[in-house]
Amino acid sequence: MSSETEPYTWIEQALKTIHQADWHRSVKTIQGRPGAVVYLEGKPVINFASNDYLGLAGDERLIQAAIAAVQEYGTGSTGSRLLSGHRELHRELERAIAQLKQTEDALVFSSGYLANLGTINALVGKRDLILADQYNHASLKNGAILSRATILEYPHGDMEKVKQMLEEQRTHYRRCLILTDSIFSMDGDLCPLPQLQDLAEAFGCMLLVDEAHATGVLGTSGAGCVEQMGCTGRPLIQMGTLSKAVGSLGGYVAGSADLIDFLRNRASSWIYTTGLSPADTAAAMAAIQIIQQEPQRRTQLWQNVHWLKQALIDELGLVHGTTPPSLLPSASPILCIQVSNPTTVLQLGRSLLEQGIFASAVRPPTVPTSRLRITVMATHKFAHLEQFITALRSNLQNLLP
Ligand SMILES: *Cc1c(COP(=O)(O)O)cnc(C)c1O
Repeated sequence: MSSETEPYTWIEQALKTIHQADWHRSVKTIQGRPGAVVYLEGKPVINFASNDYLGLAGDERLIQAAIAAVQEYGTGSTGSRLLSGHRELHRELERAIAQLKQTEDALVFSSGYLANLGTINALVGKRDLILADQYNHASLKNGAILSRATILEYPHGDMEKVKQMLEEQRTHYRRCLILTDSIFSMDGDLCPLPQLQDLAEAFGCMLLVDEAHATGVLGTSGAGCVEQMGCTGRPLIQMGTLSKAVGSLGGYVAGSADLIDFLRNRASSWIYTTGLSPADTAAAMAAIQIIQQEPQRRTQLWQNVHWLKQALIDELGLVHGTTPPSLLPSASPILCIQVSNPTTVLQLGRSLLEQGIFASAVRPPTVPTSRLRITVMATHKFAHLEQFITALRSNLQNLLP
């Protein structure tokens, strides 16, 4: 039958191709509350696959805050913030974020993804230039594409190249926006933020840093990479999510009062969508308080990260390098073990699962090379970390090319 009479048959064909390349993905059902141990299809597994770095998504205080907000404000915000959907809770959360980030103001979006789409689109257009790290998160990449600005990707973390691109290209464009993750989500390494800020200032560019994985995790008060690298107070657009260490749902942008006021007027993904639900808003607010008041959670998280990383190196003999299995450079709770191909990483993921370890097998096209991506939590017990090392050890032979 021709494609004109059967307009949907191509989908079946496309799915077949996805399966053949071992690229097919499907969902796994988690039961009960999130935590260091979760129930996956009925079986308890140690969780190395969530972004709940501080273990707050299952914290009783967030749960109670959400319940109280639902009792008081109901379940839905019922409209756009500019129409009927704005509540005092939203503003309180925005003030709390601005206070954590040491910025004049902040704006919360329905997700981090939407924060990036809306912000990038509001800031640049056809006459402008975007410089972007090649490993940036999909939401930065898609936001850049939607904006219709000219996009130049630079090799991961290559500041020489950024400088060269700016020298050659900057004057041909009206505005320029540099986009980068702070902690790279699928690798775990950090961007050279101070150098990027220097270049942005020297060439008259805006700089947007995505702190999705760093908020609550990096910096003395949990304000992120910006705080850790001593960049607080310099001109910068910070965005992040409320869905990772903050344990709720939503995204934010923090920066100058003018920037935030401008976004309220120009960011479509904020204007034309319903305000964050009362439950999500209240849970996020409770989390931001805990992030500031309980630095011991971060201390525990980093102790776990350092122990696990050292064990991967000392006990399993993994090294940084190009021959798999190898350890990708990381300065965060995201640790990645690179393996030779998608089939191997899928087998590894399955085998670990049989041994009670839940970790993500990440493959192209999400990333250039297949890897086991594990995320460490503050609430992992020492025994959980040991069990991971034991399970991985028993699989190492199978990972040699
Ligand atoms: C998760 C993530 C986002 C998107 O945040 P959501 O709130 O989940 O939509 C954006 N950027 C990076 C780097 C992320 O890891």
